[in-house]
Amino acid sequence: MVRKIYFLCLNPIQFVPFAYGTLRSYAEKNPCVRENYQWIPPIWRFEPIQDILERIAEPSVLCASCYVWNHNHHLALAREVKRTYPGCRVVFGGPHVPAESASYFHEHPFVDVLVHNEGELALEALLVEFIQENPDIKKISGISINQDGFALQTGKDPVLPKELPIPSPYLQGMFEPFFAESSQARIALWETNRGCPYSCSFCDWGVRTMNRLRLHSFDKAAREIEYLARKQIQDIYITDCNFGIFERDVELARLLVRAKKTYGYPQRVRIQFAKTSNDNVFEISRMLHENAMLWGTTLSMQSVDLDVLQAVNRKQIGIRHYQELKKRYDQQGIPTYTELILGLPTETRHTFVNGICSLFEIGIHDDVRVFELTLLPNAPLSRPENREKFGIKTGMRPMRLVSPGQVREEVELVFETAAMPAADMAYCLLFAETVQALHNGGFTRFLSRYLHQEHGVSFRTFYEGLLNTALESGKTCFKGLQRVRRLIFDFYRDPDMPQIHRLLTQPDMMAFLCGYNPKRKAWQIWTYLWLWIAEHADDFYESLAEFLVDANISRDPAIRDLLAYQKELMISLDFDPDQGKRVGYAHNWFGYFFLGEKLDKREEHLLYADRFMGVSNRFALKGNDHLAFTRAAIGISYPYSKHRHFFHQPESTRRLLPGDIKE
Ligand code: SF4
Repeated sequence: MVRKIYFLCLNPIQFVPFAYGTLRSYAEKNPCVRENYQWIPPIWRFEPIQDILERIAEPSVLCASCYVWNHNHHLALAREVKRTYPGCRVVFGGPHVPAESASYFHEHPFVDVLVHNEGELALEALLVEFIQENPDIKKISGISINQDGFALQTGKDPVLPKELPIPSPYLQGMFEPFFAESSQARIALWETNRGCPYSCSFCDWGVRTMNRLRLHSFDKAAREIEYLARKQIQDIYITDCNFGIFERDVELARLLVRAKKTYGYPQRVRIQFAKTSNDNVFEISRMLHENAMLWGTTLSMQSVDLDVLQAVNRKQIGIRHYQELKKRYDQQGIPTYTELILGLPTETRHTFVNGICSLFEIGIHDDVRVFELTLLPNAPLSRPENREKFGIKTGMRPMRLVSPGQVREEVELVFETAAMPAADMAYCLLFAETVQALHNGGFTRFLSRYLHQEHGVSFRTFYEGLLNTALESGKTCFKGLQRVRRLIFDFYRDPDMPQIHRLLTQPDMMAFLCGYNPKRKAWQIWTYLWLWIAEHADDFYESLAEFLVDANISRDPAIRDLLAYQKELMISLDFDPDQGKRVGYAHNWFGYFFLGEKLDKREEHLLYADRFMGVSNRFALKGNDHLAFTRAAIGISYPYSKHRHFFHQPESTRRLLPGDIKE
């Protein structure tokens, strides 16, 4: 008798169902598994629960790979499957399965087994045991067994050896059904090594993989590159959490480049680089960038404050070293981005705002991303003693808007710590969204840089002053910011407002955004702000001029000219790439900001001739086309990068000679 295995790995993004592939390819090395089981193609697409249930018939084993975005769906499906088929074995694994399983089976009695940490060894052993007449799964280590609602946790988690003995699910054709039914926007997940040597306390990765770095064979990885290229996969997401940590990663990157040159694929690679940003990381970034394959290199940060980093056990780079790294990448024109987490223990409003502004001071202007801290079940920070030690207060929020027939997935968000009261947390989020729109997004980036460089006005003075003025102002251009403040405060109070889709619950904000792209759902807050200001640009730059005088920041006569430059530098809806845009100023602003020239009072005439924006010139500009404008100006929601958006790019800008100007 052949038994059917169903595998749940629901994902809102079209990622290859990698957990299914790797678990199956390992388990099927065992002839007993091969001969006794039939693997049904994995269930990866979010659909109404009832529709999925209708496709599950006579299951022998139901496996689920669980994370924060799918755990409740998997529970809802498993409950019904078990009700209909009581003999079906329900096995849950993945990062969301809690290491402390004492109460899990009491709450979810329909789950039979939890697999902790990496699942290959335990799942294979379970499948072998399930077909025995008297299965004895207690002898399998690394699992919790449901014994009448109580958890029996077995011995130490089994660990695969240093050379990972997992055959390639790609080369075995296990993802063919997925490739057949997904759209072109699918993303291949690709693992070359496993494990993380660090133990940041907000993360469940280092703990889950037991810190040991293990490798897939180079030969297998090389053959997978060839396979993915021939399959015409546009985007590869490398799942390693420290790509570049090994010398051989440079060679793998070289093979990725060669594949693109030969087949045209993969077009882009998304990477979580080694945290130390070593020479390997630089060389990989350089090669990929040169071949228009890089989404950007993370220069890891999480917080700028060293005490905060120490509190969360995060390896520290230090802002000066960071500055040197940034310079090195800038010299080659390689895009980088910085990630910060809001709400980390011991971070205060002062250290957070100062931290962002000190990044601007050392020349990091392009892409600072701020994420709100969530507590994951297996992250050390979630332990009761750490919650108490740092005064962490949280609230559950839906991740997304719930579609008909689906269930609510929830995240545990940190709203307050001993160092940062809730009101300060809300302010910091508002500040972070504001500077992402205004500074990363370009509207005031060059003005604030000039004020900092030439007049010693700190970025903090400028942005906090502007934010305070805008929140009190009656001007239309600032209404967007005031609306965002209301949204943030409402979010803190409303347990039903979804984290990712919070804008979707606001009819007035959506009415505005739908004018730009009616289909987009995951609007980041700063993108609303950016579009609002773009739509009210005249009012915004007039108000900015008034702010500079009223706040006594500067009465420099060059500012009027700079404000005109700032305004015209921004991509606008009416920009026609067939015509380009001609502009002229009394100062050499283009030379000053982009060519390293000294500021000079001499006329400068420019032609903006951009045709494409974004990473790999992905988004075409079209005059007066709202959808094309949105993608070109602010990018897409996933995978997103702020690189080459927002304003006319220096490489598409031409200085006009006197003869050109007369034309
Ligand atoms: S945050 Fe990154 S470096 Fe830190 S433990 Fe997690 S995966 Fe490792």
